[in-house]
Order: sequence, then structure tokens, then C-alpha cells
Amino acid sequence: MPVLMSDDRITRIPAIEVGEALVDLYTCGISAEGRQLVREGVADRLVVADSFLPTGVRLHVVEGLRPLQLQLEIYNGYRAELQRLNPGISDAEVHVLASRFVSPVEVAPHVAGAAVDLTLVGEHGPFDLGTPIDATPEQSNGACYFDATNISREARTNRALLADVLTAAGLVNYPTEWWHWSYGDRYWPSPNTATTPSTAPPKHPCCRNVPEAQRRDWISQENCVLIVRRWNSDVIEAGYHVIERIALTLR
Ligand SMILES: [Zn+2]
Repeated sequence: MPVLMSDDRITRIPAIEVGEALVDLYTCGISAEGRQLVREGVADRLVVADSFLPTGVRLHVVEGLRPLQLQLEIYNGYRAELQRLNPGISDAEVHVLASRFVSPVEVAPHVAGAAVDLTLVGEHGPFDLGTPIDATPEQSNGACYFDATNISREARTNRALLADVLTAAGLVNYPTEWWHWSYGDRYWPSPNTATTPSTAPPKHPCCRNVPEAQRRDWISQENCVLIVRRWNSDVIEAGYHVIERIALTLR
């Protein structure tokens, strides 16, 4: 089982509001379902990831920023379904099970505008990625997990392409949902990502649901500039690798 959003290693990571603006993905040229808002840092990375895709293939964002009330409703609804399917389950167990599919409100990255649910589309519509977006582990027999083996070869190839471009642009996946990718939230420097130790505070956190008293000014103006510069060179280098790999596949 991957590290879940309800895990102590995730929930104890402190988060601060950095005041980054929300932007409409439509204005960035990203294909989206209606008007979808995300933090500027997420939007920038989606634009980069989109540019890495082969001609005729695009990212398509189904959901970005989600109101707190809606997050609460989705979480409570899934909890109730799990309690119905597993009579006698404890509160702690249902909390863990629920967080495979929907984040507890207090750490929810969609509520901070730090996550997107997305897929790939081409000239003939959405690609096959194995399950519909938002299929629960129960509905999909676990095929919603990014690494699931009970999907077609084509769906596996499409998931690999999605991961290639999004990872290269600096986003991280929530391993129980192939469609969920984030940047700057608590999960971003999680134990599932090799480069950042789990105890380090996020370099660029944008969760806003933290009491004012707990906020600290970790990122000075100067550091921000340094991080952005470093990010640019990392992304450019990673992007070249992705483009090379895609070119090899197509050859
Ligand atoms: Zn999501």
C-alpha cells in the first residue's frame, strides 16, 4: 500500500500560504472542463508538461480547485459507502480506507488549488487510461491505482506517457489515483518521491488551511527566485529526456 494522504508522515508536514495567485487554465491554453482554477505554479508546470507531449496529444484537466464544502461532501459520502460495505469497521480504519480515494479535508490539495485531476486527449477524444476518472478502488477492482496490472497494454502505455511528462514538469502523482497530480501540497515532498526527505517542509507549499499562528516565512523573496531558477534548469533537462524517449518510441 502506498503512503496515503491520511498518513502521519503527510499530515504532520507543516504548510504555509505563500499567496500564489489562482489562475484560470483556459487563459494558459490548457484544455479543461469549463473553468478550472489552480495555483500559478501548478498552471506553469502543466503548460510545460503539455508542451512535452507528441503532436496531436493534449492534457485535459477535469478538476482543479475544489470548494471546501464539496471536498467534505465527497469525503463523507465515500466514508458512508465504505461503512455500508464493511459493517463494524472502526472509525480509524474507515479514515485510512477513505483516504485511498479522497483526501481528508484538513490536508486536501484540491482545496488549496494545488492539485488537478486530468487525462490525455487526442483528435478522436479521450485516451484509454484504464478506468474512468474518479473510479473508486471498489468499482475498478483496484485498476484506479497508477501501477495496476489489470489494465490493457494500451492503457499502460498511455499512463506511462502521462507520468513521463507530468513528472518531468515537477508534479507528483497520488498512487491510488492515476489521474491525480499535485505540486506544492503536503504530498509533493512525500516518502513516495525519491528526491525530498519526508521530514523537510515543502519548498513551495500552497496549502491555505493552516492557522495563521503556525505560518512561518520559510521562503524569502530571494529564495523564491533561486527555487524558480533551479526548477527551470531541472525541467528543461528532464524535458529533453522525455522528448528523447518519446522520439525513440515513435521511431
Ligand atoms: Zn484529485
